[in-house]
Amino acid sequence: MPETCLNLIGGAWVAGDHAVENRNPSDLADLIGLYAAGSAQDVARAVAAARAAQPLWAAAGPQARADLLERIARGIEARETAFATLLAREEGKILPEALAETRRAAQIFRFFAGEALRVTGDAVDSVRPGVEVTVTREPLGVIGLITPWNFPIAIPAWKLAPALAYGNAVVLKPADLVPGTVHLLVQVIQDAGCPPGLVNLVMGPGSIVGQALIEEPGIDGISFTGSVATGRRIARVAGARLLKVQLEMGGKNPMVVLDDADLDLAVAACLNGAFLSTGQRCTASSRLIVQGGIHDAFVAALGRQMQALRVGPALEPDSQIGPVASGPQLASNLDYVALAADEGCDVIGGGRLNGATEGFFQAPALFVNATNAMRVSRDEIFGPCAAVIRVRDFDEALAVANDTAFGLSAGICTGSLKHATAFRRGARAGMVMVNLPTAGVDYHVPFGGTKGSSYGAREQGRHAVEFYTTVKTAYSYAG
Ligand code: NAD
Repeated sequence: MPETCLNLIGGAWVAGDHAVENRNPSDLADLIGLYAAGSAQDVARAVAAARAAQPLWAAAGPQARADLLERIARGIEARETAFATLLAREEGKILPEALAETRRAAQIFRFFAGEALRVTGDAVDSVRPGVEVTVTREPLGVIGLITPWNFPIAIPAWKLAPALAYGNAVVLKPADLVPGTVHLLVQVIQDAGCPPGLVNLVMGPGSIVGQALIEEPGIDGISFTGSVATGRRIARVAGARLLKVQLEMGGKNPMVVLDDADLDLAVAACLNGAFLSTGQRCTASSRLIVQGGIHDAFVAALGRQMQALRVGPALEPDSQIGPVASGPQLASNLDYVALAADEGCDVIGGGRLNGATEGFFQAPALFVNATNAMRVSRDEIFGPCAAVIRVRDFDEALAVANDTAFGLSAGICTGSLKHATAFRRGARAGMVMVNLPTAGVDYHVPFGGTKGSSYGAREQGRHAVEFYTTVKTAYSYAG
């Protein structure tokens, strides 16, 4: 049996309540490791450690923060192969995607190393003679970070880096499905010289560790990414406590394809947006809204290319799509494939696949002749499945695109500047893509959505300062 990977509390590696197996979804015989599952008491100890560390970090100043973040970025880069291999093994992303995600994490730490030096305020003339007014930003304090399984290093990075850059201490609770990558990240953070207690890691189930974290009196805010159901639960607790909260949740992202689109470009954008990373992206193109004139050619080309995608083990160089991340997620995906047929769609692909190893492999699926009222067009499936909805014209396409409970990313493929502009203005989504996949974003600009997809301040880029700081207005009179 391998040694158990421990939680980090107050700078010390400590055992949890019990240990949980982490297995490879490409090969269930591959035991990646045993990981400590913490308790509510561990969370309380971690928050106390963070409380003690935070004022010292706030006082350390921007240069110390920038230096630590830069060292963390270098530490990730130095171990990028180890990160990417572990990420591919535990989450199922193919190795090139896992490597890209690892590099993204390093870029995020480096970006916020710079931002740590750019915290500014305002000096304002008072309406009262002789009085000076300053508006400054201060750290929020101790922040609980709760992350999902689908980006095991990028999402923890885009919460940790701004939290530290702006002078906060954190307790990080990663998804129970993928503790390994975060555990390695926290080791790198320790090796980079992070002060004890500034970054605490408590792994374990959401119902115990996550719940304890949101209820812990010693925290000043929660940054959460995950499903709408969990986000709502956190919002209720946070609302009752008047706790600052930031929620990034699901999507049912539309990709509109107009008759005047470049067919090859549209097919490539949809293939990428719907199926890469096994469709397990909050920004995945899960509703393809296609105008009548291009519809049949588009479906024929996309169906052909989708069926040619090679599904296989994440570490196999030939694989283009890895496995679904877990057994329950695969079962849910297969239920939606069956539902699509029941609801009247023509289903292409979508079946369970057997490989040389026992894993959660699924063929990508297109649900042709879907309507936007069907459940397969309304629920976030979070797998390699996309519904194709036929529309008459641009106006109907935009109306269908906006007819959803979500509002994360929305895309259009068109050669028309008029329609591209009207879509950019009219799409009710936090991110709009023109002739680009709905998934795939930059790290130096805000990320987030509208409606049921997001709640609270935006993540990433300079906008991250809004959540991770609080504003103080000071008046002084010299006499
Ligand atoms: P999830 O909601 O099941 O879990 C997310 C995290 O919340 C996990 O760490 C989990 O342990 C924790 N949690 C569960 N119950 C909790 C509770 N009662 N209190 C506190 N924490 C609790 O989501 P998931 O299945 O890990 O991730 C998939 C979801 O994440 C999808 O809906 C996807 O769209 C979304 N997602 C959104 C974004 C975004 O930025 N908008 C990015 C990636 C993923």
